[in-house]
Amino acid sequence: MADKQISNGTCAYCKETFPKNVIKRHLNTCKERQAAQEAAGQKSRAKKERLFHLLVEGRDLPMYWLHLEVPASAKLTDLDQYLRDIWLECCGHLSAFRIDKVSYSISPEDDFFPMGFPGSNDPLGGMFPMMPPVQAPPPELTPLFSMDFEGLFNKHFDEQRTKVADETGEVFVQRVMKLVVGEIAETLEKSLGAAMISDLKEALGADLKKLPAKDMLTRLDALEQEALKQQAQLESLQPFPLLFDDFREENMDKALGDVLKVGTKFDHEYDFGSTTELTLKVLSEREGVALGKKKAPAVLLARNEAPEILCEVCGQPATLVCTNCNWGGVAYSNQGAVCKKCAKKHQCGDEMMLPIVNSPRTGVCAYGSEWV
Ligand SMILES: [Zn+2]
Ligand SMILES: [Zn+2]
Ligand SMILES: [Zn+2]
Ligand SMILES: [Zn+2]
Repeated sequence: MADKQISNGTCAYCKETFPKNVIKRHLNTCKERQAAQEAAGQKSRAKKERLFHLLVEGRDLPMYWLHLEVPASAKLTDLDQYLRDIWLECCGHLSAFRIDKVSYSISPEDDFFPMGFPGSNDPLGGMFPMMPPVQAPPPELTPLFSMDFEGLFNKHFDEQRTKVADETGEVFVQRVMKLVVGEIAETLEKSLGAAMISDLKEALGADLKKLPAKDMLTRLDALEQEALKQQAQLESLQPFPLLFDDFREENMDKALGDVLKVGTKFDHEYDFGSTTELTLKVLSEREGVALGKKKAPAVLLARNEAPEILCEVCGQPATLVCTNCNWGGVAYSNQGAVCKKCAKKHQCGDEMMLPIVNSPRTGVCAYGSEWV
C-alpha cells in the first residue's frame, strides 16, 4: 500500500511541496531558506559553526522522512529528543543510536545492552509498552506490580549468558525475553487463577479492557510472536552479522561532530519492545550560523506529507486504527484501520483505537493517544 505512493514533502521555509527525490536540491536553492540564513548571520552575536544536514527515514518505511539541520556541537541526546518530539514519544521508552559498532543508549548504566531498566513508573521498567499508570491496580494484579522485573531479567540473563556463545545479541536477548515473559505469565496465571493467558483473556472478557493488564497481556503475546519471527529470520541469516560482544555501549552525551561525518549512515531505535527503527544519513555539512536554539538545536528543513492510509472496510481515508487488530503499526499494514464512520461499527469497540498521525510510529503502543 503506502510504499507504492509517491512520497511528497513540504519545505519548512517556503511551504511548497516537492517529491522526496528532489527536495534536497530545492533546500539548497530555496530563497526563503537563504533569507533565514542571512537574517541569522546578521545577528550581533552570530557565530559560524559546522552544521550537518541529516536525512531521517523510517526503516522499511521510506515514505516517512525528515530533513534536519543540526550543529556538529549538538549532542546525540538533542537529536534523540528532537526525534521523540516530532515522531516517537509515547510513554518514555528507552532509545539508542547505533553508529558503526557502538550503541549510544539513553540510559548510561546499562553497560551490557541498550535494553535496560530505568526504574520508571512503568512496572515493567520500560521494556514493555504499557498503558500509563492508573490510580491503583486491582487486587488480583498486585503480584504483577510488586514483581522485581529487573531482578527477573538479570537472573535469566546471567543464567543464559554462559550457555550459547555463537549467536547474535538479538537472538540472545529474545531467548532471555522468552524466559522472562514466561515467568511473568506464570505469575499472572497464579494470581488470576486461570490456566492459560489466552483463556484468561476470554474469561475476563470486555471488563479487562479497562485494566492495563489487557493491554499488557495482548502485547506480551505479540512480543512473543515477534520474538519467534525475528529468531527464525535471524537464524536464516548466514553468517551472523553482529556478534554480541562486538557492540560497545556508550551513552548519548556525545557531540554529533565527534561521532558523525558526511556520508555516515546510522540507526536509531525507540522502545525495545515495540521498536520504531529509523535510519539516518549525514547528507552534507556547511559552515554557518545555527538557526536553532541552544536547548533545541535541531531545525526542521522539510518533512513528508502524511501518507494516505485507507479504511480496511470501505477504502476511504482512515483516521483511526484499532491496536487490538494491528500489532506492528498502521504504517506497515492497514489492518484495523478505519474511517470515522466505520469506527462506530468496529467489533473491538473504541477503547483500543489510536488516531492515525504522520509518524512511522503511528498506531504503535500508545502513540498519539491523548493520555500520553
Ligand atoms: Zn523552500
Ligand atoms: Zn509506549
Ligand atoms: Zn470506512
Ligand atoms: Zn479491532
